[in-house]
Parts: sequence; C-alpha cells; structure tokens
Amino acid sequence: MANRYSLWSLIRHGLSHHQGWQPAWRSPQPEKNYEVIIVGGGGHGLATAYYLARVHGIRKVAVLEKGYLGGGNTARNTTIIRSNYLWDESALLYEHALKLWEGLSQELNFNVMFSQRGVMNLGHSLQDMRDIERRVNANLLNGVDAELLSPREIKERVPLIATGGHARYPILGASYQPRGGVARHDAVAWGFARAASELGVDIIEECEVTGLLIEDGRVRGVQTGRGEIRADKVGCVAAGNSAVLARMAGLRLPLESHPLQAFVSESLKPCLDTVVMSGAVHGYISQSDKGELVIGAGIDSYLGYGQRGSPHVIEHTAAAIIELFPSFSRVRMNRQWGGIVDVSPDACPIIGKTRIKGLYFNCGWGTGGFKATPGSGHVFAHTIANDQPHPLNAAFALERFASGRLIDEHGAAAVAH
Ligand SMILES: Cc1cc2nc3c(=O)[nH]c(=O)nc-3n(C[C@H](O)[C@H](O)[C@H](O)COP(=O)(O)OP(=O)(O)OC[C@H]3O[C@@H](n4cnc5c(N)ncnc54)[C@H](O)[C@@H]3O)c2cc1C
Repeated sequence: MANRYSLWSLIRHGLSHHQGWQPAWRSPQPEKNYEVIIVGGGGHGLATAYYLARVHGIRKVAVLEKGYLGGGNTARNTTIIRSNYLWDESALLYEHALKLWEGLSQELNFNVMFSQRGVMNLGHSLQDMRDIERRVNANLLNGVDAELLSPREIKERVPLIATGGHARYPILGASYQPRGGVARHDAVAWGFARAASELGVDIIEECEVTGLLIEDGRVRGVQTGRGEIRADKVGCVAAGNSAVLARMAGLRLPLESHPLQAFVSESLKPCLDTVVMSGAVHGYISQSDKGELVIGAGIDSYLGYGQRGSPHVIEHTAAAIIELFPSFSRVRMNRQWGGIVDVSPDACPIIGKTRIKGLYFNCGWGTGGFKATPGSGHVFAHTIANDQPHPLNAAFALERFASGRLIDEHGAAAVAH
C-alpha cells in the first residue's frame, strides 16, 4: 500500500509538520465503462468493492454515492456488533462478519476501533429467560460464544444497573456475547474506501443514480446526474433507498423504509464498559470512547425518507434507559439524529441476484446491518463475481418471499441491533 499508515509514517510526516499526507482515497471523474458498478457508498457498498478487487481481482469497479461516503446509515448507527442470532443461517452469516471484524484494522491498515467489550441482552420475565436460554444454546451449537448471566453477574459487570426487585421490569438474567462490541462507524467507511481506492476502485461521490439501463432483460449500466455509466454488472447497496432503485428496474422488493433514531449524551467519565440491551423496556445503551452515552431503541412506525424521527420515540427511549439506569436521569442529552432503515418481513437481509441478468441487490438489513458490514461485502462480492451466491448468503435470496422459507429473526434479541 503506497500510503501505508504506521508509526514510522507518523514520525516521517511529523518531521515535515504533517504537510505531506495524501487524501485517503482518490476522487476521479467517472469513466464511461466499468466491469462492476456498486450503487451506494455506505459501509456495505465499499466493502463489496474492496472484496471484489482484493479477493476476485476485479478492479475496474466504481462505487457511486449520491452524497458523501458513509452519509447514510453507516455513520448514523449506534455501532453494536454481535453475532448471537437465533437461526443457523443468520448466526453463520453474522459470525462470518464478526470473524472479519476481528482482523479488520490490520487488513485495511486503518484503525476501525473495534472494541470487543461484550453485548448483554437482558431478560425481564420468565418467557424472556426461556427465549434467552434457547438462543444461548442455539448459539453454542453454531460455535458462537454465548453465556447466561445471573442478576448478580450482571451487577458485577454493570454496577450502575438497577437489578433490585422493586423495579417495574425486574432483571432476571441476560445473555452475554463477550466477543460482541462496538466500532467507530465512519472509520469503517473510510477504511474500506481507502483500501479499495488503493486497489484501483473509483469512488465517486455526489453521483446519484437516477435510472438503470436495461436492454433485453439484462443490465447495461446506470443513468446518473453525471451522465450514463456502463457496466454489465450492477450491485445495489442503498439501504433505505433500495426499493426506490428496484423500482427503476421494474422490481418490487418486500421492504419498508422507516426512520430509526439514536442520540448521545454529554461526555461522562467511564462508567459503562459493555453494551446493554433490553427488549422489554425497549432500549439499549453503550458508552463511546469519547465518554458519551450512545442510546437507541426501535423504528418510528411510519414510512419515510426524512432521516429524522419523532420526539415521542426519543421520550420513550429515554424513559426505557432511565428504568434500567436511574442514575442517568440527570445526564444531559447532546445530539439526536435519524437514518432510514430498510425493513424486510422476516428481519433478515436480501442478498442475491434478481430476474434481470447482472443486477444484484444487497439490502433489507433494517436496524442491524452495521455489524454485518465486512461479511456482507465479502459474500456479496462473491455473488457478483461468480453470478451465484456464496454458501453463506444462499438462504437470503429474494425467492424466499415466494417459497415461504423465511428466516424469522424478529425475536432473536428483541431490540434488533
Ligand atoms: C439510528 C440507527 C442505529 C443503528 N444501530 C445499529 C447498530 O447498533 N448495529 C447494527 O448492526 N446496525 C445498526 N443500524 C443499521 C445499520 O446502520 C445499517 O444496516 C447499515 O449501516 C447499512 O449499511 P449500508 O452500507 O447498506 O447503508 P448506508 O450506509 O445507508 O449506505 C447506502 C448509501 O446508498 C446511497 N444511495 C442511496 N440511493 C442512491 C442512489 N440512487 N444513487 C447513489 N447512491 C445512493 C446513500 O446515500 C447511502 O450513502 C442502525 C441504523 C440507524 C439508522
């Protein structure tokens, strides 16, 4: 890598007052033809382009992004990473991603700040605990690390949590995935962009795809705000805008686009060193490296593309967190934002081919796709390069909505992040 980051390069650039750093990725003008076009410069699109170039040797690739890199959900999410899903298909897909996360900073030569601080899912009723036990057992059978915690063990790990019997939703236990955690979300987009660009991928920002060129049942390229760009393979990775792109090809995807919000507090001293989630009170919380409490919950129930949400959802989320952590009731909130998530009927992604030859979709990650970023890119690159699914995404094809072979992950961890 020409621009390798290292202690030595830091010292070398320090000697020249840091004037010599190169931009992390090139910003070329779009060419007329590519082998593959990826629509969407979020983490999943950039990861796909990176693995196309690195694993499959396909370097004539363009990533077209209508705004700026990571301006979609990639840099709007709350960065929870875990792989403790219930069903074999999803557990294996997310575990594949988690294994890639574990070496990603080294692979990309970019610190994505992956921190394996553990993820805890609380149980507040006997039924919650039965579901948790079932999921922990299923995880262990799939080689995914999973533990059952008692209220005492929860309190030892998270001293500020209210586990007492007086709580409206008493805490009876939790599942815990020690290898889960968080990462720096925009670093993931930047890291993949930089590594892909080094391999020859053209990353083109402010280039909205406004139409798909389709001739005789196969894709021939895209129409953009910057003119026509041709390619025999087009991969769409546009999260909340996936259904809009599909419509350009005359396809109807089983997706709903909803706002999903999150917010952060003022910075506090370190007080929470794991991720805590609860389906019953419906909220989750972690503490960022800057000290902010990072808080989120569920989607706003209406459909929309506005990248913002409604105040009553924030109020509900804050109430849920205070139920778990009464001492946070006096913490001031700093910022709030929303993204548009693409929710599928079984809360699982759609990754694969379409009836239009050369046109592929990777979408439907809903509220929980950040954790899959490297794995999603890896299997989608395989699907595009070979025109057939990777074994790990074969079950996630669009056809499952016709055959009925759904993979229902709605209940896996209740707050589906
Ligand atoms: C508030 C919030 C919290 C979340 N928390 C978590 C979490 O804790 N853990 C987790 O795993 N997941 C979480 N998610 C979900 C996660 O963020 C997404 O599933 C994931 O980031 C999707 O990545 P992506 O690259 O597919 O999408 P995006 O990052 O949205 O990228 C899609 C890109 O496509 C571009 N685009 C769209 N249409 C066009 C077009 N016509 N032409 C060109 N470009 C186009 C968009 O501008 C966008 O940049 C959360 C999401 C939100 C909103």
